Amino acid sequence: MSVTGHIHSTESFGSVDGPGIRFIVFMQGCRMRCEFCHNPDTWKIGAGIERTTDDVLEEALKYREFWGEKGGLTVSGGEPLLQLDFLIDLFRKAKAAGVNTTLDTCGKPFTREEPFFSKFQELMTVTDLLLFDIKHIDNDAHKKLTTQSNDNILEMAKYLSEINKPVWIRHVLVPFRSDYDEFLIRLDAFIKTLNNVDKVEILPYHTMGKYKWDELGLKYPLEGIEPPTQDRVKNAKELLHVDDYKGYLTR
Ligand code: SF4
Repeated sequence: MSVTGHIHSTESFGSVDGPGIRFIVFMQGCRMRCEFCHNPDTWKIGAGIERTTDDVLEEALKYREFWGEKGGLTVSGGEPLLQLDFLIDLFRKAKAAGVNTTLDTCGKPFTREEPFFSKFQELMTVTDLLLFDIKHIDNDAHKKLTTQSNDNILEMAKYLSEINKPVWIRHVLVPFRSDYDEFLIRLDAFIKTLNNVDKVEILPYHTMGKYKWDELGLKYPLEGIEPPTQDRVKNAKELLHVDDYKGYLTR
């Protein structure tokens, strides 16, 4: 049996979404509306190309010789957790083939309620690493930035810590939104409560996806906001103590 999912696109040689060289699957569909999103074309649920897990894995495995010890398969989005059945089936088959499985998520669909939670637990048994985006530590500011609350996102971070699942925390640094010392210090304090953090990454906001908003006829919310300066990126890295996280999975 092979489960079908809605796929936005794939990338054969990803080098920034997890350890080593990776095959990246971008899933279609997301309910967040991050002001800085550089892939608004992934938002529409049910769009994209329908593909089976067997078909996607077969394509991924063509690149296996380039993965080395660290690389493998990353599923990103959009929001992959909106297509749990597909993820479970794909990662189960990937693990059976000895492939490293990494999930890039913002965690918004997470809940401890059923039927989601049992499926999520099953997914975690076949997931090696999560790239976990915390968009903003302050709930009100998170709502302004993404249209959604961060309550269940932080709850998911706590759950991953409970089960000791390795995560890389990723934080997009956006001037006039998340780039304030007060918020970065609070985020650092939250991350310190977790015991499963392998790495912390600051992703400086950039405007390379703006043209997609224009193409979709959407008003770009961060018009006029420039990427953070190198000094502010350095400041954020210091406040989040990124050098304290050793990235043991990638060494
Ligand atoms: S969660 Fe990701 S895909 Fe969804 S709106 Fe935010 S940045 Fe875009």
